[in-house]
Amino acid sequence: MRTHTCGELDKNHIDDQVTLCGWVQRSRDLGGMTFIDLRDRYGITQLVFNMDTDAILCDSARKLGREFVVMVTGTVTERSNKNLNMPTGEIEVVAQQIHLLNSAKTPPFTIEEHTDGGDDLRLKYRYLDLRRSQVRKNMELRHRVSQETRKYLDGQQFIEVETPVLIKSTPEGARDFIVPSRMNPGEFYALPQSPQTFKQLLMVAGFDRYFQLVKCFRDEDLRADRQPEFTQIDCEMSFVEQEDVLMMFEGLIKHLFSTVRQIDIGTIPRMTFDDAMKNYGNDKPDLRFDMKFVYLDDLVKGKGFKVFDDAETVVGINVPGAALYTRKQTDELTEFVKRPQVGASGLIYARHQDDGTVKSSVDKFFNAEELKKWSIVFNSSPGDLMLVAAGERSKAIRALSELRLEMGNRLELRDKNVFAPLWVVDFPMLEWNAETNRWFAMHHPFTAPRPEDIPLLESDPGRIKANAYDLVINGVEVGGGSIRISDKSLQQKAFRILGFTEEDAQSQFGFLMNAFEFGAPPHGGIAFGLDRLCSLLGGADSIRDFIAFPKNNAGRDVMIDSPSAIPQHQLDELSIEVKKQT
Ligand code: ASP
Repeated sequence: MRTHTCGELDKNHIDDQVTLCGWVQRSRDLGGMTFIDLRDRYGITQLVFNMDTDAILCDSARKLGREFVVMVTGTVTERSNKNLNMPTGEIEVVAQQIHLLNSAKTPPFTIEEHTDGGDDLRLKYRYLDLRRSQVRKNMELRHRVSQETRKYLDGQQFIEVETPVLIKSTPEGARDFIVPSRMNPGEFYALPQSPQTFKQLLMVAGFDRYFQLVKCFRDEDLRADRQPEFTQIDCEMSFVEQEDVLMMFEGLIKHLFSTVRQIDIGTIPRMTFDDAMKNYGNDKPDLRFDMKFVYLDDLVKGKGFKVFDDAETVVGINVPGAALYTRKQTDELTEFVKRPQVGASGLIYARHQDDGTVKSSVDKFFNAEELKKWSIVFNSSPGDLMLVAAGERSKAIRALSELRLEMGNRLELRDKNVFAPLWVVDFPMLEWNAETNRWFAMHHPFTAPRPEDIPLLESDPGRIKANAYDLVINGVEVGGGSIRISDKSLQQKAFRILGFTEEDAQSQFGFLMNAFEFGAPPHGGIAFGLDRLCSLLGGADSIRDFIAFPKNNAGRDVMIDSPSAIPQHQLDELSIEVKKQT
């Protein structure tokens, strides 16, 4: 129907006869002339209708409402009033014919770069929100990321294999989404939280390099910016050690940054889990800024200040240039760390003043000379503010980690268009859960211990390190993986430590352990969160903006209104009795 799109006409097309199709974004009636901005996926072109030359045509143009769908034929003409901010801004199309292809109701919000629509309204009419250039650009970026991922991995001999979506429920990890089986009354499928076991079976099958852009499902309690269904770039390789996996996927990430953002991110630095925790209180440190933790125990204990003396750990950060913070601002920081989510009981601060002296909130207990030593340990300069937390080690570290990020925000050190990627390596294999009194797999139960740590399985499981790694960018975990166990007896041992009985392990994961008896190659892999990766590459906060049809914060699709009740006969067929909601 059309000869061109609304995004491509420029001075080179002047005097050409063209036909465009699109939506009426806006129209302006200036008496003798009517201007219409016609929009499609590619851009906006200005149409002109002239009362003097064709009154009937101009009259019908005036009747076009917002979002009407039209086909217009006309001549490309140079604009007298040029708009150099848009690619088609030097021309306009003088219309000779117009066909109304469809009319439209007035949209519930303006479909422009800055819309007046609230979140829920935009989700309810997502197909209209997707007409907005910003949202459309996000989807284009996602498309690019997917295409470039496939290109890179295909070039490295990876084969994309689809794994099933109706699988089996397993207790490890998050909660499963469950699907009742009509043909097997009382039995259920689960939707995959990841294709983990299948990709390992593909390695046993000899596929050697696998990937899949795959939907995964986790029925977790809702936190901001989580989606119950999300997409992974899921990968697995055989005959590899950790180093091979890291190098292969560092290559992928570099490829994505260079093709999608034209950024060379260089070599990705590495940090052990222990160092990340010690220096940043966090296994996904944001390295766009420094503010490393400084431990003060030796310096400050035994001076009569009970908070420090009774603390397991006294730890602080030096905040450059924040010494001029007012009392009100430091009070705000204290309130910040005292919030239940952060959990500290208070905050001590010391200002490195312009004259070189240090003034603190605990001057009663520390004299000038002692405070001077603080500034040496913190390596502070005049104008800096030292912030100190004390207490139980894990709590103090967690609170200071939150505070560090908050200071990064306040000092605008977390620019969304600056990227600080990092491999975090040497994760512990297990994590003790005091509530349930048992070990949990820090990554998942298929993660291999470092070979040299295998003897600790019996004696001191908490000290075992795994060949497990995360890719962190700007404080966000973008991907994670590990070298896997490929030996049946080691896998059995791992399940035992995780509290599985022999029978449970066999009934839930027997298929995998049996496969290990038929020649399993050494293997390992990784999975990246595609939605999250796209939002990072797009310089945005929310993954929702990079998903065509996302769910809202309550896990609902407000457009199709799901989840929803189903008719009784369907429930009967599935042998499901629904408890009456009270
Ligand atoms: N399946 C893992 C996950 O979803 C990733 C991996 O170990 O490859 O986190």
